Amino acid sequence: MTTQSQAQVTLSDLEQTQDFIRRHIGPDEAQTKAMLADIGAESIDALIDEIVPNDIRLADLPAIEESKTEVKALADLKAVASKNKVNTSYIGLGYYGTLTPNVILRNVLENPGWYTAYTPYQPEIAQGRLESLLNYQQMCLDLTGLDLASASLLDEGTAAAEAMALAKRVSKNKKSNAFFVAEEVYPQTISVVKNRAEFFGFDVIVAPAATVGEHDVFGALLQYPTATGEIVDIRPLIEAVQAKKGIVAVAADIMSLVLLKAPGELGADVVIGSSQRFGVPMGYGGPHAAFFTTSDKYKRSMPGRIIGVSKDTRGNQALRMAMQTREQHIRREKANSNICTAQVLLANMAAFYAVYHGPQGLKTIANRIHRLTDILCLGAATKGLQAIHANYFDTLTFNTENKTEIVARALAADLNLRTDVDGQISVSLDETTTREDVAALFDVLLGEGHGLDVAELDAKIVDCGHSSIPAELVRESEILSHPVFNSYHSETEMLRYIKKLENKDLALNHSMISLGSCTMKLNATAQMIPVSWPEFANMHPFAPVDQAQGYAEMIGELDKWLVELTGYDAVSMQPNSGAQGEYAGLIAIHKYHQSRGEGHRNICLIPSSAHGTNPASAQMVGMKVVVVDCDKNGNVDMADLKAKAEEMAENLSCIMITYPSTHGVYEETVREICEVVHDNGGQVYLDGANMNAQVGITSPGFIGADVSHLNLHKTFAIPHGGGGPGMGPIGVKSHLAPFLPDHPLINVKEGTQGNDAVSAAPFGSAGILCISYLYIAMLGKKGVTDSTKYAITNANYLAKKLSEHFPILYTGANGRVAHECIVDMRPLKEASGITEMDVAKRLMDYGFHAPTMSFPVAGTLMIEPTESESKVEIDRFIEAMVCIRDEIRKVEQGEWTVEDNPLHNAPHTLADITDAGWDRAYTVAEAVFPVPAAAANKFWPTVNRIDDVYGDRNLVCSCPSIDSYKD
Ligand SMILES: *Cc1c(COP(=O)(O)O)cnc(C)c1O
Repeated sequence: MTTQSQAQVTLSDLEQTQDFIRRHIGPDEAQTKAMLADIGAESIDALIDEIVPNDIRLADLPAIEESKTEVKALADLKAVASKNKVNTSYIGLGYYGTLTPNVILRNVLENPGWYTAYTPYQPEIAQGRLESLLNYQQMCLDLTGLDLASASLLDEGTAAAEAMALAKRVSKNKKSNAFFVAEEVYPQTISVVKNRAEFFGFDVIVAPAATVGEHDVFGALLQYPTATGEIVDIRPLIEAVQAKKGIVAVAADIMSLVLLKAPGELGADVVIGSSQRFGVPMGYGGPHAAFFTTSDKYKRSMPGRIIGVSKDTRGNQALRMAMQTREQHIRREKANSNICTAQVLLANMAAFYAVYHGPQGLKTIANRIHRLTDILCLGAATKGLQAIHANYFDTLTFNTENKTEIVARALAADLNLRTDVDGQISVSLDETTTREDVAALFDVLLGEGHGLDVAELDAKIVDCGHSSIPAELVRESEILSHPVFNSYHSETEMLRYIKKLENKDLALNHSMISLGSCTMKLNATAQMIPVSWPEFANMHPFAPVDQAQGYAEMIGELDKWLVELTGYDAVSMQPNSGAQGEYAGLIAIHKYHQSRGEGHRNICLIPSSAHGTNPASAQMVGMKVVVVDCDKNGNVDMADLKAKAEEMAENLSCIMITYPSTHGVYEETVREICEVVHDNGGQVYLDGANMNAQVGITSPGFIGADVSHLNLHKTFAIPHGGGGPGMGPIGVKSHLAPFLPDHPLINVKEGTQGNDAVSAAPFGSAGILCISYLYIAMLGKKGVTDSTKYAITNANYLAKKLSEHFPILYTGANGRVAHECIVDMRPLKEASGITEMDVAKRLMDYGFHAPTMSFPVAGTLMIEPTESESKVEIDRFIEAMVCIRDEIRKVEQGEWTVEDNPLHNAPHTLADITDAGWDRAYTVAEAVFPVPAAAANKFWPTVNRIDDVYGDRNLVCSCPSIDSYKD
């Protein structure tokens, strides 16, 4: 090492200590050099030249800004955020002010132990979040009065659309093709449902709820309480639909359910809604979890993921995702829905909110909201302003001729009312509302000098014993009686409960999670910080746009950058996940064909290697999936593609391809694929999940595709949250731009007016866009491009090292891989009986999360290290894999039997090694400390291998009783 004297160092050199790029990218210079030597490449650029086909290489760095330091980027974004004017919101419509308990804010939302985990596909190292999700399901069951719950859907609008799809699947009214949506449902929900119905080919009837009995429908959607706040006894309506064998879904407000009779008790077949107001900030629309409950008899038709109770090999209770819902889209075009990434982090927050407050706390909160609403109602009535409904929970609607003055007074007092209905205003109160707020609302509604006093009105209400909740709709059933909701009400207890669960889960803050296709890269702390800034967190999605200028600027800038990085012309931020992006993109394609009088085009070509969400999404827009073969190298079989495209040219709508392919290879023929499809009248949907191998060096637009989704929770650093949130914006070429989603309450883009929405909120989960914004701002044009190059370098180093011990399934022209590689376990299974599952579980004993298992090829592991892992960590992973190879060899050679070996018995727990009768063919040390690195940073799986079959045969999706823990 050379030492420079102070005088020889320039200021620029000194300033490099602040450079974020070197914090984001794992390998340093020396490590990079060593890796390149092993790979056998001169330099990173020489390696990239070998790998990425020349005809798709971009000549220049992308035209975005230079990188900023963390300090500068945060300061600049703070200035942007401060352009948001956060009024107190009484808009309601599914989004409410809420008080996130600080113990949850800091220890869940802001805690990498929770936010960097992955979807719990490996349940033995995910028991913490599985327990919390089970709590979520239990909470939803109690509040809705049904017996099967999932965790969770993307938002209330899409949950309603999923309820419609379920109704069609299970309704015995097979001859009807109509779905009824009550006029009283939230406008954004109606828009999302109409959009979904159009492509399923259902007729939607939107009419007053009271008329539902006049229609012959396979299903109906009601809102409880209604959008204007009324509590209606929906029993007769439900009975009327069910009498004609229709299915009734009820969109319910979760806080009101604490006091109201559960929709399940009123006869509803499905209950959906948002759990946002249980402690999850509004975030200008999201992310929030939506709940979905139904009856056990519809379990095979359930959308989304169900957490179920099973047992492990020791017979102990253990949790897992039930009934293949862990990979529901594995059923491809036969899947119930295309949901993949959901809203796990937010479902967990809501569940913790219920755990922390408990049944009594929630009742107090709900009663307080309701009392303040009573006071507001009574006071206004005394002064001649009568709410239009006598029965309400938290929302009052007034017909008024003074709307203009009231709205002006509201804005002057920094508060927002609901104003989208002519001649009406509505006011929705929430947990944050205080006496002072109600007094201020009197001033706004009545003008000053009304002389009303909150305490006096309160006394009057107590005296007269009046109730604005009809007696027959007052809840009598218990809620949250399970011990978990009655044990952690002090902050100390709560803190420890959160920590106890966190400790059971392996997240990125413990070790590398090399899940191929999922891109588990660094989620930098600086990128996370603005998520909880009040300027971003507390904005209602339907606030007047002039109050959301900070959001507009941030989203606009991110939009511009994504346009540049994708090579497209326009971006829509609305889809809440990659799969929703696919759905939105396919809609754009279909509407484009329609606009040219070619609406009959309905064939979607999908290579056999595609992710399951691709065919699941195609099915949702009514397309017919035709599978294109792959050749023995894993590439799209060009002859098969040409033959099918030509044969089906008449009806070809599009192709969905992934690039680099899901096999981790840059197909040389990608431009030709685009040409063949275009020549036959089709459009090209390029699944952007693998953008981490494209950014800065090529782009979907440049390659010739028409539309792509981006998984911002993969390439652009939004953390996976243990299974969500995510964001799946789509980029399109200009000819598809007019067909991007819009929103009934906020116009999101010039030229899209009138298009229906794909999500409940105009900009999807806008509250987490700041993460991707800062990711790009802090890396700049060079950093984002370097990230791609290092992702490829790390993958090739890993592939090279592992190839000495395992077959690597697919490689490109020069024997290289892209940003991920597939290790083939099938030959070893053949020779030893050890499966890819055994290897996945054994990695836990070494302190690692398994790579992606059996996708895209059964019997394989797909590994994606990302640019953020250093050589040290990658070497640790390689060491684990090599040691596992040696263990397999011992089985092959008969030193260990197929049953009695550390792979078959993995993962190992403390219960195993403290068992007095350890009599295995290998030692305790071999079991749990197989290498020194594992011993030095030991992660203990809390359960043994979980029995999948048992869990599916005995589906339990609620919290087990305490007794069941004893036996
Ligand atoms: C992750 C992924 C998707 C789905 O994205 P979600 O955000 O989980 O809905 C689609 N295609 C591929 C190739 C993926 O890896």
